[in-house]
Amino acid sequence: MKAHDAMYIGGEWRPAAGPDTIAVINPADEQVIAHVPAGTAEDVDAAVRAARAALPGWAATPPAERGARIAALRDALAARAEEIAATVTAELGAPPQLAAAVHAGLPIAVAGTYAELAATHSFEEKVGNSTVYAEPVGVVAAITPWNFPLHQVVAKIAPALAAGCTTVLKPAEDTPLTAQLFAEAVHEAGLPAGVFNLVTGLGPVAGQALAEHPDVDLVSFTGSTAVGRRIGALAGGAVKRVALELGGKSANVILPSADLAQAVSVGVANVMSNSGQKCSAWTRMLIPADRYEEAVALAAEAVAKYVPGERLGPLVNAKQRERVRGYIEKGVEEGARLVAGGPEAPLETGYYVSPTVFADVTPEMTIAQEEIFGPVVSLLRYEDEEDALAIANGTVYGLAGAVWGDPEEAVAFARRMEAGQVDINGGRFNPLAPFGGYKQSGVGRELGTHGLTEYLQTKSLQF
Ligand code: NAD
Repeated sequence: MKAHDAMYIGGEWRPAAGPDTIAVINPADEQVIAHVPAGTAEDVDAAVRAARAALPGWAATPPAERGARIAALRDALAARAEEIAATVTAELGAPPQLAAAVHAGLPIAVAGTYAELAATHSFEEKVGNSTVYAEPVGVVAAITPWNFPLHQVVAKIAPALAAGCTTVLKPAEDTPLTAQLFAEAVHEAGLPAGVFNLVTGLGPVAGQALAEHPDVDLVSFTGSTAVGRRIGALAGGAVKRVALELGGKSANVILPSADLAQAVSVGVANVMSNSGQKCSAWTRMLIPADRYEEAVALAAEAVAKYVPGERLGPLVNAKQRERVRGYIEKGVEEGARLVAGGPEAPLETGYYVSPTVFADVTPEMTIAQEEIFGPVVSLLRYEDEEDALAIANGTVYGLAGAVWGDPEEAVAFARRMEAGQVDINGGRFNPLAPFGGYKQSGVGRELGTHGLTEYLQTKSLQF
């Protein structure tokens, strides 16, 4: 697979400061497909300097012109859609259809929303005798995970650029090739040198150096709660801005008035998509007690469609596979009933996990509390609406969720959920709607106008 043996800094591909490399592995067949440089603090420093040098010029560029550059970036990504999808399939293992529709399609759409928002957002307003200006925060560090290799990058870099910030990206070590393609698209789109810089490398080395860098004004991180907590503490110590998009344990609440068959089948599909490697996955299905066994049978039927190696891709790496299998074993140990799947590997090669359904899950079980990040869905029963609400809100997380049933009842229930984004009766994903968490699911919002304002700070002039 094509890979750059270099970092993208100051508008050009530059050799890395050190000799170390990272092997990129195809999780479907466990073969090494490429190597990329493992960046050090020196590479990070060069990238931050390039971003700092480019800041005054980019911040002063009229927003409509920034929008035009982002539109060119969107077009450059769209021209490479097939290559992007193939690369995500190779380094993440995403099945080709998912790779094309979501991994390539979604970030192209999101880039388009920021091309437009840059041009149309009001960066200036009158408040009484004041004029309030929305100005870029400055140099932005983006640290991204592997689960949506391009979407997570675009959801940070596009709004930062729209706001007039300059950026340094440290992508996940498992999926650096997609990030390199993004850098190529930035180059092709003619963005000024230094507004976007890429340093590949390990989290505790390059990621940490970037999060700690004194000349970074805002750190936007998506990934595990453990690392997010560290980055939040570092940012707090340095009094710099931080945005954290962390884990989830979202509830899929099926009210008695719901179409049970539809709610269960869409609910199972939601968890199986991307092999469950989705922070917003509806991993806890909440079912009225008197329809519980019916729902269990429907879930078992729905999950059978997810054949490993076909519709269901592998997990990203061996460590994640072991982690997920560990959770499945824990579920069995704690007394949950396996309805489908289990800890045994479904295929000899590749980091596959069987699509797994657990019934008789109670709210305090580990599999009902912790983020599994695999194709595992837990079915919980509830007695009445108050019980359902207590279960839905009964984790440290609050990222997303779903409610099925009479629309009015569903909205009333969703308003009482501690979650940042809730789909009503399978509502369609909206790339303009704010995405982010309540409680320990994070700080800040991505996408749309809310995502843009994360990268702005305000100044008021009084007359
Ligand atoms: P991680 O948090 O270790 O990695 C995310 C990013 O942070 C990567 O780019 C990584 O290189 C970087 N990083 C790691 N240590 C760092 C440090 N000390 N300083 C700065 N950056 C650092 O996540 P992981 O180990 O790949 O996955 C573990 C678990 O995290 C998953 O099982 C899942 O529960 C969760 N996760 C959540 C999301 C999400 O979308 N919210 C995405 C990926 C993983």
